[in-house]
Amino acid sequence: MKKYAPRCTVCATPLADTSRGFKKVLRAIFGRTLYCPHCKMDVPKASAVVMGETYGLHLTHLKLQVRDAAMQLARLDLNDALRAIEPGLSREQINPAHSMENLLQFAREVYRPLLLEQAKARHASLEAGLRRDATGRATAAGVWGHSSAETGEREWDLLFARVGKDQYIVYQAPRPVAWLHEAVRLKRGKGNGQGAHHGSGVQVLPRQKAG
Ligand SMILES: [Zn+2]
Repeated sequence: MKKYAPRCTVCATPLADTSRGFKKVLRAIFGRTLYCPHCKMDVPKASAVVMGETYGLHLTHLKLQVRDAAMQLARLDLNDALRAIEPGLSREQINPAHSMENLLQFAREVYRPLLLEQAKARHASLEAGLRRDATGRATAAGVWGHSSAETGEREWDLLFARVGKDQYIVYQAPRPVAWLHEAVRLKRGKGNGQGAHHGSGVQVLPRQKAG
């Protein structure tokens, strides 16, 4: 039934038993800890298994969101892609992702601290949103990340656009990005609207423009 590898409860590094032969068998049966090479400490095996499962679920959810958003993106030339992410953005500021897997890897690395927070049941959120042009075409996408109160409620935005069949450009925004915030807010609003069929007769009001 185990789907994900056990992970360190502190740093979320996947933990594997590196001992061999008879030692490995003994450890598998009697060992109660797994060693984290990053933290240089033994982690109780049961906790590492739980950590592996919860971290794995949050990571899978993030990957699904990124993949889903990326697949909806229109293919643009580089200049249009840069503009779609943020006007004035230069090619020196972005990173290329040469495949979907590469793009997912970016997201996984950037959001490691937030995934760790989520796995520890803190209030961190990771949500993807799309930017659309006047014709409704999706020109850029991003993940709106928000850390928990324990870590200062920081915002981490990762933006991307598509420049080839399976090629993307990726940008880690140093400041909160307004269009992404709006896209996520809209998506949440839609989600609530769809879920609000309880026969109460209460209508979901059209969204209000802020400001
Ligand atoms: Zn560790």
